[in-house]
Amino acid sequence: MTEVREDPRLDRLVDLVVRLASGDLAARLEPSSARDAVDAVITGINLLADELEEMYQDLEQRVAERTAALDQAHLDLERMALSDSLTGLANRTLLNDRIQQAVARAERGAQPPAVLLLDLDEFKTINDSLGHGAGDAVLVEVARRLTSVIRDTDTVARLGGDEFAILMPDATEEQALRVAQRALRALRLPVTVGDRAVWALASIGLRFGSHSQTAEILLRDADTAMYAAKARGRGNIQVFQPAMHSTALARMQVATELGAGLAAGQLSLHYQPIVELATGEIIGAEALVRWLHPKRGQIIPAEFISVAEDSGLIVKIGHWGLRTAIGQLAAWARQFPLSPGFRLHVNLSPFEVRRPGLSEHIERTLEHHDVSPSRLTLEIAETGLMTGDTNGVETLLRLQALGISIEVDDFGTGHSSISSLRQLAADSVKLDESLIVDIASDPQQRQFVGAVLQLIESVGLGLVVEGVETAAQLDELQALGCRYGQGYYFSPAVTVEVMTHLLLSRAILGNPAGRPGAPGRQGKRPSGRSNGKC
Ligand code: C2E
Ligand code: MG
Ligand code: MG
Repeated sequence: MTEVREDPRLDRLVDLVVRLASGDLAARLEPSSARDAVDAVITGINLLADELEEMYQDLEQRVAERTAALDQAHLDLERMALSDSLTGLANRTLLNDRIQQAVARAERGAQPPAVLLLDLDEFKTINDSLGHGAGDAVLVEVARRLTSVIRDTDTVARLGGDEFAILMPDATEEQALRVAQRALRALRLPVTVGDRAVWALASIGLRFGSHSQTAEILLRDADTAMYAAKARGRGNIQVFQPAMHSTALARMQVATELGAGLAAGQLSLHYQPIVELATGEIIGAEALVRWLHPKRGQIIPAEFISVAEDSGLIVKIGHWGLRTAIGQLAAWARQFPLSPGFRLHVNLSPFEVRRPGLSEHIERTLEHHDVSPSRLTLEIAETGLMTGDTNGVETLLRLQALGISIEVDDFGTGHSSISSLRQLAADSVKLDESLIVDIASDPQQRQFVGAVLQLIESVGLGLVVEGVETAAQLDELQALGCRYGQGYYFSPAVTVEVMTHLLLSRAILGNPAGRPGAPGRQGKRPSGRSNGKC
């Protein structure tokens, strides 16, 4: 037997194969200088190892890419589940989570969190009149402004629709109130959408936390406070008080019953005569809604108009009121000739004015009853006219163009400066009763009212005074040159039957025989022309 001397390269070759097989893809073997068959195998295995290594690296890179994509998708999903897609703010789920964390921290000794709930006051009008694209742009801008007023540790969330929340963990009451005030101020500036300026004012409810409170209770109480802010006339901040709960429940009850009451015919219009002060002659009437509740009896508007505004029912009530008032004008005109300048005044809530379609609705109703627009005056509270809402101003201008008269109601209670009266789309002003309460006993008040009247006259507006209760007030008003007014001194609001009788009998109200009729400086009638219809 011949002994074969083993080639040492074979051992190294076996070793290489073992290393490669065990995953060491960088292992290689240098071929020898012999360049024989064994070297050829070594070179072949080296080439195979190169290829294997390349394939492996490629595979590794693809795995890394897929893993990164999966991680991103996971993050996106998480963000989508926790944030609002329109504004990028936290959503309700994330807010709840953060409130819970803040509550837990308060258990360990930190300040309890404060929660602020914020609802835009007339967002629906923006959506209805300018479209959803504009509505979205407003929401994004509101989100931006709210984010600019908070501290790094606070969270702004959008809870849905036009409802936002701010969580202030570990905040003192002063800090929380300051943030709420800053938020309110930030929203007072108009938002420009296309070529329009709109206002996204908000009502804010604030709940200071106390220990061991759940996120749910904090949010619920902030919501209750927010509704209290809305009821207070909007655009203000209310801090939660436990008594607000019962008020909120009562308002909900009123809203439910009012809707049913309207459908069941429990609402009616009463009419308060408007007279020429010097003669006591009736020159118009104000239609005032009354609700005859089956259990509570007659309810005055102060108890349900703001509920109707909050619940949106005011639009139905407003349509009903206009139909009824215009129908009544037509009914009177059928029964007897109305005096040429007689006008019926109907109150409108600012909400109705800002909703699209109001002027068309009124025009159709007037046509249906064949009543002249010059018979109608629409009273809108001063505060309702001053919001700068362009849609509302256009509606008023259209109504004026039809021949309907626009009157600024409760003048002297809002924030409008007299100079801004010139910019209002109005024909006349109704001076609020609060301005004349002390007119007979307080010379300063008399002087003040005198100055106000002069300014109203100087901008060319007509004038009616409301709340005339005494002969002494009447004398002062006449001496100041007022010509038209209404109030208990002449007549309270009366039923349609009584009003019909007053008109039919051409009643003289008050006691003009006993008074000198002072010549009027306020010469302009609060109403305009008549075109010969009823
Ligand atoms: P307003 O338009 O300023 O109406 C005048 C209110 O003063 C009426 O109260 C009237 O009854 C009352 N009043 C009349 N004479 C006197 C007086 O000599 N002294 C005093 N202190 N008050 C007098 P009312 O009927 O309770 O209406 C309250 C408010 O409710 C109205 O204020 C108006 O803003 C609103 N309102 C009434 N009817 C309607 C309606 O049909 N639609 C809308 N949107 N609002 C209405
Ligand atoms: Mg009125
Ligand atoms: Mg008034």
